[in-house]
Amino acid sequence: MFILVFDKDKGKMMLFDIQRARRDTPGCANIVHFDNAGYSLMPQPVLDAATSYLQLEAQIGSYRAYIRSYEAIEHLYSSIAKLIGCSHDEIAILENATLAWDMAFYSIPFRAGDRILIGTTEYINNYMAILQMTRKTGAIVEVIPDDDYGQISVEALRNSLDERVKLIAITHTANTGGLVNPIEEVGKVAREAGILYIVDACQSVGQMPIDVNTIGCDMLATPGRKYLRAPRGTSFLYVRREVLEHLEPPFLDTEAATLVTRNCYEVRSDARRFENWEANIAARIGFAVAVDYTLQWEVEKIWQRVKQLSSQLRTQLRQLPGVTIQDRGIIQNGLVTFTLEGQEPEEIKRQLAEQNINVSAVGLHNTSRLDLESRGLLSGMVRASVHYYNTEEEIEYFCAKIAEILAKR
Ligand SMILES: *Cc1c(COP(=O)(O)O)cnc(C)c1O
Repeated sequence: MFILVFDKDKGKMMLFDIQRARRDTPGCANIVHFDNAGYSLMPQPVLDAATSYLQLEAQIGSYRAYIRSYEAIEHLYSSIAKLIGCSHDEIAILENATLAWDMAFYSIPFRAGDRILIGTTEYINNYMAILQMTRKTGAIVEVIPDDDYGQISVEALRNSLDERVKLIAITHTANTGGLVNPIEEVGKVAREAGILYIVDACQSVGQMPIDVNTIGCDMLATPGRKYLRAPRGTSFLYVRREVLEHLEPPFLDTEAATLVTRNCYEVRSDARRFENWEANIAARIGFAVAVDYTLQWEVEKIWQRVKQLSSQLRTQLRQLPGVTIQDRGIIQNGLVTFTLEGQEPEEIKRQLAEQNINVSAVGLHNTSRLDLESRGLLSGMVRASVHYYNTEEEIEYFCAKIAEILAKR
């Protein structure tokens, strides 16, 4: 079964092979997976690559397996470079997106009085790192208000600039909903003022087209397991070449640096200065295949499909009395958040799990506190996040189950 999606670049409808997407995704047979913002289902080629690498490790030993698979691992860097429009030496591979973001952030030499500007949706882990940095160094964090649509106000950002601003940190799409922040406009502001700019793109890479030069960011972090459909324990960090030499990593090992004399080390010149030597190679082999697999589908097509599905999901949920859709923003992506009158998000998640449906409950403990507080959503929300391999039928099924939960009240 092919379905039609609109391809903006080519200005026409394109065929999307949903049957292939389903066939390639073994998990589709067991589960309605609406938690792609938390973790996606791996496609078969990713699973095959990672498991056969583990087999090889068992057969010839992990160091030898590594040498034999050297090219496949190197390939990961070029594939990511292709995906986000940078060079392979501007990419570091790490274990999770928190660490990727942190390695860049903790490398910035903050001083007392430096200002760090963020939006209300900054991810909880980034925010805690920033708080810690303010305590250690005397730097200051300031939250730029939202505009009327809930996006970061680019005007307010521009008006807050002065020579003390050291960093602008923006989460492209928070895990609290479909809102997409205007990171390109923020990039223009950062470029004009010559301020360092880091983007948390955890929810967007693999879901929508991302080009670091269009964004104008200096650093960008993303995990493998979300919209890229890679195994867990994978992420990448992008750092622009011009910025690299000014960022000395907070810790070093023999991958990141060379001890040239007993008193002297040299840090690598490329982005791998942020890596460690030891890693889960099987996961990285899977990650490489996942990025190539994403490129095969074409990100623009994935994006059109995800927008179609999520807009259908919002429309159908809105028709159920007792459901409130909580997503804001001008552009809305695959993350659909809602509350049900008088029901705890964790309890709804539990009931859906009994029906083989995966969703997340997002709340103060795992997401942006500033965002939820400013919107008065202290008890959190249910988050149903779709990917291109989900179907219209799954949405029907999902909404029917939500209707049943509502009827049981
Ligand atoms: C998931 C997520 C992260 C953290 O990624 P990990 O790989 O779990 O460390 C950071 N920011 C946002 C917006 C996220 O959704």
